[in-house]
Amino acid sequence: MSIQENIAKVREKMAAAAREAGRNPEEILLIGASKMNDAAACREAIAAGVDALGENRVQEMTAKLEEHAYDGAPLHFIGHLQRNKVRQVVGRVSLIQSAGSLELLSEIEKAAANKHLIQDVLLEVNIGEEAAKSGFLPGEIFQGAENALNLPHIRVRGLMTIPPADASPEENRRYFDQVWRLFVDINEKMYDNSFEYLSMGMSGDYEEAIRSGATMVRVGTAIFGGRHYT
Ligand SMILES: *Cc1c(COP(=O)(O)O)cnc(C)c1O
Repeated sequence: MSIQENIAKVREKMAAAAREAGRNPEEILLIGASKMNDAAACREAIAAGVDALGENRVQEMTAKLEEHAYDGAPLHFIGHLQRNKVRQVVGRVSLIQSAGSLELLSEIEKAAANKHLIQDVLLEVNIGEEAAKSGFLPGEIFQGAENALNLPHIRVRGLMTIPPADASPEENRRYFDQVWRLFVDINEKMYDNSFEYLSMGMSGDYEEAIRSGATMVRVGTAIFGGRHYT
C-alpha cells in the first residue's frame, strides 16, 4: 500500500467514525506523524492531502526543513520539547501541540516575544498521570490554562493527550472522555469557547478518539508504515 492509499483508507475510517458519532467528518483534521520518515515520504503525504505534518524531534525537523520536506502544508511540533530547544521550534511551526508545563510555557513566551510573534500551542494533558510522561496532570491543567492567559505571545488553541500505551480499549475510552470534559470545561470557563483543537488518537485508536470528540488525530504508522529505528 502506498502512502496515498493509506491516507485514503484512514480518511474513510475517520469519516465513518465521525458519522457514527453524529459529527461532520470535515471538522476533524488529519496530522501525519512523520518521525523517522524522509522528506520524500513527507512530500507524498502532503500531495495526498494530510492537513498538516507533525514532528517529534527538533534535530530531525530542522534537517527536514532544510530539505523543504514540509512545503505546502502546516507543520506541528508534537513531541517532548526540551526547554533548551524551544528557540529552534518557536516561529517555525504553526502549532506546538506539546506545551506541558509552566516552565515550558514561560520558555515559549520568551522565545516568541524575542521573535515578535504569537505562538499557537496546545496544552498537553498527562491523563494517565504517568511518571515518565510530560504534560500537565489533570489536577494542574486548569492552573496551566489560567497561567497561559497571562502570556501575551502565546495563544492556546486547545488540548492534546496521549493515553498510556498499555490501556485497554475501555480504559482508553475513559481517558479520551475525561480529556474531552476538561477541554469543554476550560474552553467555556476561561477561553470564551475559542478553542478549536482537541488532539487525541493515533494509528491504533483514532476512530475511538473521534467518537470521544477529537478534532485532530495524529497518525504515523497507518500512513507511513512501520518505523525503522537505526
Ligand atoms: C509517533 C506519534 C504519533 C503517531 O503514532 P502512530 O502510532 O505511529 O500512529 C502520534 N502522536 C505522537 C506524539 C507521536 O509521537
